[in-house]
Amino acid sequence: MKLIDSISRMSTLVKIIKKEGKSIGFVPTMGYLHEGHISLIKTAKQHADVVVVSIFVNPIQFSPGEDFDKYPRDIKRDENLARDAGADIIFYPVVKEMYQDGYATYVNVERLTDGLCGKKRPGHFRGVTTVVAKLFGIVKPDIAYFGQKDAQQAFAIKKMVEDLNMGIEIKILPTVRAEDGLAMSSRNTYLTESDKRDAALIYDALEKAEAVIKDGETDPAKVVSIMAAIIGKAKSVKIDYMAIMDTKELREVKKISGEVLVAAAVYVGKTRLIDNIIVNASLNKAPVKKGVTQ
Ligand code: AMP
Repeated sequence: MKLIDSISRMSTLVKIIKKEGKSIGFVPTMGYLHEGHISLIKTAKQHADVVVVSIFVNPIQFSPGEDFDKYPRDIKRDENLARDAGADIIFYPVVKEMYQDGYATYVNVERLTDGLCGKKRPGHFRGVTTVVAKLFGIVKPDIAYFGQKDAQQAFAIKKMVEDLNMGIEIKILPTVRAEDGLAMSSRNTYLTESDKRDAALIYDALEKAEAVIKDGETDPAKVVSIMAAIIGKAKSVKIDYMAIMDTKELREVKKISGEVLVAAAVYVGKTRLIDNIIVNASLNKAPVKKGVTQ
């Protein structure tokens, strides 16, 4: 496995790979790899000849006061994990080369990024789509892999690739969770054991939302209040948002029907965590009419 930290060396390598007629599978990450990332790398390995993993903590997707400085970084650890998962190249660019003096170009996906995390973290998705567009320009992948855990990000990237005719296949893979349901995240390293127990309530709330929707609940406000009651059991957890969105335009639904995204963002202490599930309300259990025997 190669570790490449210069854009020009990466570009040269990409040219050689393409000349050999090999396909490139790409997994962009911010590093401090966990099983969520590993599942993306392993899947990429099944589909592509060469797997490139980028590790770049992208400053422009963090707002002032967020955790850019303390975000966990450990390239030696990541190298071992990525190699074991089947990565061929780690692309590990430096901030100064990615954003040189006078840098002026940004990619912004409109509408889809207005709600949820876009509302709570202004400028975040502009930073994400800009860096992913840059990485796509350097790595020139045939297929790129993202996690469902960052659902709004996945929506924005798919839209960017479609709107800008980037010609890259985007695969979204399921969220990998710990045994108690907590979604894997590099930010889980900020949590104490008791924080982790509290954070597991996020998935309990999402599962409960799925159950009540499948039982026929169509009022998003009711579902959200049921979720809030579950998450509210832990004093250390503060809800940032909980919302039920359609899966086409990512707009908040007034009535639940068809496929919906149930999304939550919470603070556990100072750590902000996000999670979501997709529920198909049309696969409801048929409501049982009272007084009718079947
Ligand atoms: P990050 O390093 O957090 O920017 O994540 C890099 C990629 O891994 C993104 O496409 C994420 O959606 C994905 N990812 C993060 N956590 C998980 C998880 N628990 N399961 C699956 N994919 C994940």
